[in-house]
Amino acid sequence: MLPFFKKKQQPPETTPAAPVTAEASAPVAGTSPAPAPPMTDFAGRKVVVFGWGGSGRSATRLLAREGATVTAIDNRAESLQADLADGVTLLPQLDDAALAETDLIVQSPGVPREHPTLVAALAQGIPVIAEVELASRFLSAPILAVTGTNGKSTVVTWAGQILSSWKDHVFVGGNLGTPLSEAVLSDTPWDLLVVELSSFQLEGLTSLAPQIGVLLNASPDHLDRYSKVGDYYKAKFQLFAHMSTGYALLNAADETTPLVLEHYLHGAVPLTFNRPADGSDGVRMEEGILTVTTGGNTHPIVPVAELGIHGAHNIENAQATAAICLLAGCPLPVVAEGLRNFSGLPHRMQTVGKVNGVTYIDDSKATNPGAVVKAVEGIDGPLTLLLGGRDKGGDLFTLREPVFLKAERVVVFGESAGRFRMVLQGHPQVIEAETLAEAVTVAHTHAEPGETVLLSPACASFDEFSGFAARGLAFAKAVEALT
Ligand code: ADP
Repeated sequence: MLPFFKKKQQPPETTPAAPVTAEASAPVAGTSPAPAPPMTDFAGRKVVVFGWGGSGRSATRLLAREGATVTAIDNRAESLQADLADGVTLLPQLDDAALAETDLIVQSPGVPREHPTLVAALAQGIPVIAEVELASRFLSAPILAVTGTNGKSTVVTWAGQILSSWKDHVFVGGNLGTPLSEAVLSDTPWDLLVVELSSFQLEGLTSLAPQIGVLLNASPDHLDRYSKVGDYYKAKFQLFAHMSTGYALLNAADETTPLVLEHYLHGAVPLTFNRPADGSDGVRMEEGILTVTTGGNTHPIVPVAELGIHGAHNIENAQATAAICLLAGCPLPVVAEGLRNFSGLPHRMQTVGKVNGVTYIDDSKATNPGAVVKAVEGIDGPLTLLLGGRDKGGDLFTLREPVFLKAERVVVFGESAGRFRMVLQGHPQVIEAETLAEAVTVAHTHAEPGETVLLSPACASFDEFSGFAARGLAFAKAVEALT
């Protein structure tokens, strides 16, 4: 099925570590408490969809189609009543009696696993699963699943675009864009499903086993939701928990990769991108050319200079994208062409204007320090960096070295301005602004022709905006106003 890479020797059998989450079921009296097979027949089942966002609504439609009785729970229930579908009850909370009668809970990514209702459900043996887990039970086409702290959307979109130029029915979605349940509801005969998975979705996997599981990288993020970075990493590693076959694609340069190789693979064949040139199978960059090695033979894919998007992080993303497509069986020339033809996603290192010889770049999607480090590394010449927004609890001190090395000045803004000031103590020019628009004006006042002004804020946007996209658009608007 996946012909490009030669199948390697299966790794020796290891005892699988206990999954971070397991779909529990109440043991039936007189039988051993073996884990129940995943539920696939939902007719007459009482299912609670916890969180009435996009994926919750899609899950509800799927469950209703399958004959389940659905109760949706959302604390904003009152204001949401108007767009309620027939046959679905929407309530602000689930009482104990209703919980006791529940067969299954579908957890939205926005609801933490520590929510008291979910804790109570798990304690009572009620399975709590993610919407992607539910949807996967109705899908037979190969799933190519991508996670990682940064680059998921870029790689999923890029690989999706290339694979769509090869096959007619390629689904692209998951955490990005269209929920996976829509792939089921559309009844399309999918050839492949390219699915972005966040750590919050991975927490609720109990059987989903992708044919290709990709972990792009892992660095601290979402520490407003996880009490320890190890818990966040473990959620990421859940991607491999149910893979007894297929490929685990890992970043050879990421510091979590040895951990995954040693402890978290249970039969999936490991392959890496971003490799050192040691002749082993995988994808790497060699002397400015992306190459793939399989069965000891190395083939050039495309010169890095011809890639559609640039920067060190996008060379990694291109390697991952190439490896996914080649593993899926896509011919090498199609992959090469698709790597050239991609123009990137908005709000990820997107040039939005040039004013008085100063280039303005929108990297609003950089909501953690790891993304900012890569962004700053990719800038040549003098730099004014805009940092700020709502702090997610990450280690901002990792920014000190690259910022001191590369940024002439830093404009800090929003809720976390004071924290950045403290973190960057000793930097020759840190200027504080109230809002993003003010930060742009300050940058404009100071920046010299030839300089780059980069919004790569290392924080969430919710102190001032509804999301990273709104923040990026506001940045572009403020830049436009300078002219
Ligand atoms: P995600 O979907 O994982 O958030 P995106 O593709 O939307 O990833 O990119 C998010 C941010 O991370 C952007 O600022 C982007 O420039 C940066 N980025 C993209 N790929 C990588 C990578 N491989 N390593 C580090 N940062 C990256």
